[in-house]
Amino acid sequence: MPTLTIHNPATGAVIAEQPADDAASVAAKSRAARAAQPAWAAAPLRERLATIARFRAALVAELDTLAATLTAEVGKPITQSRNELNGLLPRIDFFLAQTEVAIADEAVYDDAGMRERIGHVPLGVVANISAWNYPYFVGCNVIVPALLTGNAVLYKPSEFATLTGLHMARLLHAAGVPHDVMQTLVGAGEVGAALLNQRLDGLFFTGSHATGVKIAQALAPKLVKLQLELGGKDPTYVRADADPKAAAESLADGAMYNTGQSCCSVERIYVHESLHDAFVEHFVATVKGFKVGNPTDSATYIGAITRAPQLAVLDAQVADAKAKGAVLRVGGHRLPGPGNWYAPTVFTHVNHAMELMREESFGPIIGIQQVRGDDEAVALMNDTRYGLTAGVYTRGEAKARELLARVNAGSVYWNCCDRVSPRLPWSGYGDSGIGLTLSTYGIQAFTRPKAWHLRLPPDAA
Ligand code: NAD
Repeated sequence: MPTLTIHNPATGAVIAEQPADDAASVAAKSRAARAAQPAWAAAPLRERLATIARFRAALVAELDTLAATLTAEVGKPITQSRNELNGLLPRIDFFLAQTEVAIADEAVYDDAGMRERIGHVPLGVVANISAWNYPYFVGCNVIVPALLTGNAVLYKPSEFATLTGLHMARLLHAAGVPHDVMQTLVGAGEVGAALLNQRLDGLFFTGSHATGVKIAQALAPKLVKLQLELGGKDPTYVRADADPKAAAESLADGAMYNTGQSCCSVERIYVHESLHDAFVEHFVATVKGFKVGNPTDSATYIGAITRAPQLAVLDAQVADAKAKGAVLRVGGHRLPGPGNWYAPTVFTHVNHAMELMREESFGPIIGIQQVRGDDEAVALMNDTRYGLTAGVYTRGEAKARELLARVNAGSVYWNCCDRVSPRLPWSGYGDSGIGLTLSTYGIQAFTRPKAWHLRLPPDAA
């Protein structure tokens, strides 16, 4: 049997040798899930709700252990690991509260013996190939509503968040989800690729654009329902009437939280020329105040870079920006190991010829560009192949709405950033993906609509 070696990215130490899947075990788990799904779907919804409520309680009971594992394998600062788990609870509460309504039959026509109803039935067996940066969020955005709506789940956690994925599956099984209904597949890309060879009714992916495209190509001949939650190059515009200090503090957090490894991290900042210098001064001061280092220290704000190859991506963006005339305000280099470390990095005098302003950085690095006004800012915000989130900092709501309506992004923010709500759909334009999670749409995403045409017999009409 193959094994997966799991490292602590903050120390480089091996923390586990995990038995992994191969093509044969992936096929066996897939067959078992298909056999088990109908009984799970046939159970009353209240039983599935009670099961997920027990899972939620177990997350609370084990929060310290789960957070420690997440920090050990991802390098996430422990306070932010705890925040992720605490932030998961209201998401689960939303799904618990809304599933019954979201999948209830809809009466759309009643007339002279003829009735029409829309039903919502489970897709069947769905696969979830997942990322490592927020494994509880991106995992449960799929797993929880998929299970609640009666699907079986084949879950391939990221090879960089496997222990966390196994914790989730263990707690779900202990809460009462039948083992075959919730299957975990351990391994890297080849295990994900083996999953694509199985008979699937839906594939829900969170990860990079490059892998998303490979998955879409592999699944195209099979006509499997496909959702792709991919990367972003998320812009924010600070208007002339914003408070430069408040905006700088908020955006430094939005750019650097989770060590900048969030799909909705602020990745580009445009600032009106009239407050550019004041904004930069507050921004750099805030970044210099971030504590970098040991992720198990509760005061740490910037942790390790989870994947070692990302260090070379950050180096290349820094070198390219410097070569093209950007001004480095702080950072701009790796930090000594062991483990994978990068100094929080701020550039000004950047432009769209630089990779830093075009390609996802996925690290604690940001470019700040000066703009002359609203039209220039909107044009620059839309000058991207991505479209996950975008924001505007300004006093007036009407102006913010007007500008954000012109920006091509799935989520838009007025005076806030790097924010996800279970009540709102999470989706992207362009290379940020297709489909959505969260909100009631993100519950219905795990069902197919069934059209019921019901005519009463003539003597009953
Ligand atoms: P990744 O694409 O490297 O890996 C994602 C998953 O795909 C992993 O489980 C991996 O093992 C699997 N995989 C790799 N090759 C495969 C193949 N050929 N076939 C099937 N599966 C394969 O991405 P990552 O590094 O885990 O995640 C970072 C990316 O995820 C960033 O781009 C980030 O923006 C994005 N992300 C997006 C969202 C969102 O909601 N839009 C949320 C979190 C992360």
